[in-house]
Amino acid sequence: MQLARVRAVAARAGLAKCDLCGHHCGVNRLAGEPGRCQAGADARVFSAQVEVGDELDLIPTYAIALSGCDLRCDFCLTGESSWNSQGPTARAR
Ligand code: SF4
Repeated sequence: MQLARVRAVAARAGLAKCDLCGHHCGVNRLAGEPGRCQAGADARVFSAQVEVGDELDLIPTYAIALSGCDLRCDFCLTGESSWNSQGPTARAR
């Protein structure tokens, strides 16, 4: 739990000069500056569920899917739900 807390603090601090993906915008998401993804400081979750359909070594998995992705990977399984930067919000703590 301690490691998760440390990582959460580091991830939130990273929003002040966002470099979380390959676009490296450097915007301050904590101050409301929009980067290329248009995502704010709050995590936007459109799906959170236990999955049992993956490889045996990985199941059961608790999968959380975030919206606001600005990448358009050919192999994306969720498409519009992932790209919607205004999807449902789960307050990041
Ligand atoms: S696209 Fe979004 S997540 Fe990626 S660096 Fe820019 S603001 Fe950060």
